[in-house]
Amino acid sequence: MPSHLKITAIKPYPARVGIRNQFLVKVETDQGISGWGESGLTGREKAVAGAIEHYREFLIGQDAMQIGRIWQEMYRSQYFEGGRVLQAAISAIDIALHDIKGKALGVPVYQLLGGKQRNVIPTFASTGDSAGEGAIERAKELMAMGFDAIRFFPIGQDSRDIFEPRQSIATTARLLNRARAELGDEVVLGIDYHHRLSVAEAASFCNKLDKGVLDFLEEPIRDETPEAYESLRTMTDIPFAIGEEFASKWQFVPYIERGIHQFNRLDVCNVGGLTEAMKVAGWSEAHYVDLMPHNPLGPICTAATIHMAAAVPNFAWLETRSPERGLGFDNDDFFPVQPKLEGAVYPVSDAPGLGVEVNEDLLAKQNFSFWEAPHLRRNDGSVTNW
Ligand SMILES: [Mg+2]
Repeated sequence: MPSHLKITAIKPYPARVGIRNQFLVKVETDQGISGWGESGLTGREKAVAGAIEHYREFLIGQDAMQIGRIWQEMYRSQYFEGGRVLQAAISAIDIALHDIKGKALGVPVYQLLGGKQRNVIPTFASTGDSAGEGAIERAKELMAMGFDAIRFFPIGQDSRDIFEPRQSIATTARLLNRARAELGDEVVLGIDYHHRLSVAEAASFCNKLDKGVLDFLEEPIRDETPEAYESLRTMTDIPFAIGEEFASKWQFVPYIERGIHQFNRLDVCNVGGLTEAMKVAGWSEAHYVDLMPHNPLGPICTAATIHMAAAVPNFAWLETRSPERGLGFDNDDFFPVQPKLEGAVYPVSDAPGLGVEVNEDLLAKQNFSFWEAPHLRRNDGSVTNW
């Protein structure tokens, strides 16, 4: 068993896989063991690739086994630390180092995180953001597949990318009230409002819902100002699910310590990798906040999150996109070995490292294509949140 593995190469792969870009990073060592990580800054992958180049300058030659020390050096050994671009780069490298360490020691990554606390990982599924009024039928299909936690999306984005919040909250609340009546009171129902509302609009939305309709409300407003969320917290008793864009443990501080959110949408590919995610998980445990990780990327993100989910006590559901149709990124050509849903749960891989195999040759042949999120406008022409 090698105790010292010198990093010899760090290779970024921003590449189109299925309907979206995936940004994978491969770290190689002098012992022939390599690892894969993924970065989650969707839409700005080229910026992360630049950050990876900067980090590569001082990481070549370092001991890949010293994951915690390398994390600190990537974070602290610069004047302008932190932020979403740098932390997305750190995340990918940190996940790849865990993959390497697991392979070097011959153990699955969950063994590096304290060992397995659950045998399978429960997930929630989504009705799809274009389901519209058909979302209830889609929810019934998902329940028939075994999902007992289902997430809806707001109605109201039209084909011209116009989004009027007041129209949206009225039609979406009507849909959800109907959904609860039709789907019964046992299934967990939530909605991701994709931070498209103001505090007043979010409060109105909650007031239009019948009591007990929603089990979680994800991202009703943007997160820059915890005080705005605190204000909204006093206006509704629906649990909040927040945190998928947070790029460090420090961003979680006000949310966890002031009791603002009840589910933590932690993203291992943005928060700073598994090293940072485990610290947020422990802090959340102390405040009885359960993890509900963000997982919209590819199999490397899913596998890394499964290992974390296996190793923490405070866990609710892992987001999965697998039952959504036509995504094309659970592609076995690119990932000959990858996590596969069994009903509504993921098994936990016992293979060394993350337990994912990547077809590097195929990945290297893929082009990167620029992608912009919809630039939503209101009827008056002003810009509004996507
Ligand atoms: Mg979300």
